[in-house]
Amino acid sequence: MNIRQNLEQVKQLCAAASKRSGRAPGAVKIVAVSKTVDRNRIGELAGVGHTVFGENRVQELLNKQASLGPDLEWHFIGHLQRNKVRQLVGRVALIHSLDRWSLAEEINRYAVKAGLVIAVLVQVNVVGEDSKSGISPDETQSFLRDLAGFPLVRVEGLMTMAPYSVNPEHARPVFRELRETRDEARRKLGLDLPYLSMGMSTDYLVAIEEGADIVRLGTAIFGQRTCHLREG
Ligand SMILES: *Cc1c(COP(=O)(O)O)cnc(C)c1O
Repeated sequence: MNIRQNLEQVKQLCAAASKRSGRAPGAVKIVAVSKTVDRNRIGELAGVGHTVFGENRVQELLNKQASLGPDLEWHFIGHLQRNKVRQLVGRVALIHSLDRWSLAEEINRYAVKAGLVIAVLVQVNVVGEDSKSGISPDETQSFLRDLAGFPLVRVEGLMTMAPYSVNPEHARPVFRELRETRDEARRKLGLDLPYLSMGMSTDYLVAIEEGADIVRLGTAIFGQRTCHLREG
């Protein structure tokens, strides 16, 4: 199948899963993860009207953004070094991977400097895998409370990555816990937190059933990457 057919199929499956979870068919936003994918193939997707792309490397994102024109929306989804924050300011719609306090301070610093609001998701390490970054579920509420001191850092929700498994059902409790963590923070802190970014090519339908608002799909849309850059 080609990229367009992949996208069509993914959209249909997302719509069906959205309905199963009591939401409108178009309720879930699809971020096409284009890391390692060349500009022509990204352009092909843009050509059929898909506009939202995710990258996990700053330089790669900036290069593609420069070469593909201003009409696309870019999300940063990878581990972000503090010294690269400056390069992302004003260039991305959403940073999915706010995973530590020192990064929050740096994002705030550049938001203030630029006089811009920067939208972020807090990355939560639900399972506590050493190989993955993120705030533990137990500490998420206090982290969110502290972030309220940075008015230009707009927290729009939570993000997680489930441990890799061939069986997507293994990811279900992880996604459920992220939703519960979000719901509790909403209740206790009165925050809006509209987006849960969870679900990748192997487990996105389960993620949607558990309440994902954003799924991040690379392989399901572009096919196997020749070089594996799954981060975390
Ligand atoms: C690579 C990546 C994805 C997409 O992975 P696929 O399994 O190809 O869908 C999603 N999220 C993050 C953070 C990634 O690094």
